[in-house]
Amino acid sequence: MYFKDIIGQEEVKNRLIQSARSGIVPHAQLFTENGGAGAFPLALAYARYLNCQARGSEDACGKCPSCLKFNELAHPDLHFVFPIISKKEKKKEVCDDYISEWREFLLDRPYFSLDDWLNEMDAGNSQAIIYSKESDEIIRKLSLKIYEADYRILFVWLPEKLHPTCANKLLKIIEEPPANTVILMVSETPDLILGTILSRAQRIHVRPIQTEAIAQALIQLYHLEPQDAMQIAHLADGNFLQAVEAISMGEENQFFLEQFKGMMRNSWSRNVKGMKEMGDLMAGIGRERQKNFLAYCQHLIRENFIYRFQAPEMNYMNKEESHFSVKFSPFVNERNVFDLMDELAKAERHITQNVNSKMVFFDLGLRITVLIKK
Ligand SMILES: [Zn+2]
Repeated sequence: MYFKDIIGQEEVKNRLIQSARSGIVPHAQLFTENGGAGAFPLALAYARYLNCQARGSEDACGKCPSCLKFNELAHPDLHFVFPIISKKEKKKEVCDDYISEWREFLLDRPYFSLDDWLNEMDAGNSQAIIYSKESDEIIRKLSLKIYEADYRILFVWLPEKLHPTCANKLLKIIEEPPANTVILMVSETPDLILGTILSRAQRIHVRPIQTEAIAQALIQLYHLEPQDAMQIAHLADGNFLQAVEAISMGEENQFFLEQFKGMMRNSWSRNVKGMKEMGDLMAGIGRERQKNFLAYCQHLIRENFIYRFQAPEMNYMNKEESHFSVKFSPFVNERNVFDLMDELAKAERHITQNVNSKMVFFDLGLRITVLIKK
């Protein structure tokens, strides 16, 4: 996570950059938000920036040894505390027992909610908390020698979920912090945090994201039309997760995804009848939607190509699309990706030029047949 990946929030971003550059880094900081505003990714970008060895004026370098370890979230001086579901039978009782799932989860999606994490853990109806057992872990980690970082970072996601024993231990640490240690807490319900912790932490309230910034992000990341993006952004009320939810559940998106799947299946199985039916169906939806569909197809091809590189921070798909990519992405490769994109772009051009849309889609199906087997 970099500052450049944060949606909006220029003011907080600048404040954090100033803090790092001036070396005035409070040892306990509490980021608060009402959800979906980006407090966690902001704190994470800040942690990276604090430890970057070749900091730029606006962001971390991305290349120094510290940044490389941050790419994997596997920096030896970066520790995470977060709510978990204790599964004794599987020996999952402290955060480190979940660390690989947690890293994968964070790398997959910069913006997330507690519900997303609960799903990831297969929590069912269980409540996630930070168990009292975690306090020994925290103390152990902070008593280690700092390996290499300028700042050892202890992340506490949702301190409101700390078991009281754990909260009290954390309080002791905040009162007498080990040298060069920064505790970054991110909370969505600060009212539930122990008052003594609250009063000792520097508070940074992350306001809802500006509508314009959300709209920009939707256009850039999900290729929405500006008008649709503004409408969704407006309804999202500064909450990026809500905006993404609104897209992923959109009927149009569902329809496009189904058509895309059908088109790829027809081409793969050389189903000429299916291709013709697809042409008939698409001819009936109107030119604007046809163009949107073809733009959407290009977006999915790109995302499926990137999917193969396992660089989730670059990947923008909703749940249904990602699910499909598990099986589909192997078919998009170095040998066909550019030709596939070209064919889709060409079809889009033809639609714009009023070429018979039945023919355009049928023809497209045939061409994909050749490309998809490469
Ligand atoms: Zn760096």
